[in-house]
Amino acid sequence: MPEGKIIKALSGFYYVLGDEGIVQCRGRGVFRKNKITPLVGDYVVYQAENDQEGYILEVKERKNELVRPPISNVDQAILVFSAVEPDFSTNLLDRFLVLIEYNHITPIICISKLDLTDENLRVKLEQYAEDYRKAGYTVILTSSETELGIDKLAPYLEGEISVFAGQSGVGKSSLLNVLRPDLDLKTDDISSHLGRGKHTTRHVELIEVGNGLVADTPGFSSLEFTDIEAEELTYCFPEIATESEKCKFRGCLHLSEPKCAVKAAVENGEIPIYRFDHYKDFLQEIKERKPRY
Ligand code: GDP
Ligand code: ZN
Repeated sequence: MPEGKIIKALSGFYYVLGDEGIVQCRGRGVFRKNKITPLVGDYVVYQAENDQEGYILEVKERKNELVRPPISNVDQAILVFSAVEPDFSTNLLDRFLVLIEYNHITPIICISKLDLTDENLRVKLEQYAEDYRKAGYTVILTSSETELGIDKLAPYLEGEISVFAGQSGVGKSSLLNVLRPDLDLKTDDISSHLGRGKHTTRHVELIEVGNGLVADTPGFSSLEFTDIEAEELTYCFPEIATESEKCKFRGCLHLSEPKCAVKAAVENGEIPIYRFDHYKDFLQEIKERKPRY
């Protein structure tokens, strides 16, 4: 039986990209019985009725599953943060990073609008970029205006399912337009930003960009830590996770526990203080979260 990937779901049809091109499939009744709703991003086994139509027989196990937008098997998130307009914020960046790490998605940090920076700000951003690289992240400085860094970003999309994430106005649509000019996504106009206004019904579609697939709707529209437990937060900060292996106590939250390797690493400057501050802020937020029943 042929296999493929659902790249679009609309009006009860699933559009499956297989070796022979795109086949319009219906789900089998069995999915409704088992409460499996096929998602865009799913790897499926299908049965072709003819060249264009078929049935989905099986949904393969998912690597991950996002709710907003509804999409599965996301490999990476291109996390776009502008240097200015809006101003670069490590707090917001760390919030996105935690959620992305928690979903087992690889983040690529993209600092955009570099053409709008002065020397001073560039030095500061380079320092941040170094900090995040040291923590293990890929950081690319870009400009859709001058096409700075586009050649570095493009290869990362190859063969992967990516979502773009980041605040409104940071330049996600502009980057996609540079990566694939015929997309011609509207920019700046609030109602027609990436993933809004263009479609009346709420659906996601994977579009081909630079030898990879990219969701046409930005990921991580909710930035709440609804599922993360306090003990799990350490693992959403890679450099804190690494140091925590040397903490005296298992389950150390790096607050007032003795012989905490994380606090020691912050004190001797190995872990940037702002990263640790955000860890503590988020931990507090998780602890104050109302229990769910
Ligand atoms: P999105 O909401 O993240 O999709 O952001 P847009 O791509 O719509 O960009 C928001 C605004 O920033 C638009 O006015 C763009 O023209 C502008 N913009 C985006 N990228 C750049 C850039 O690299 N340089 C400059 N100067 N402006 C940019
Ligand atoms: Zn500790």
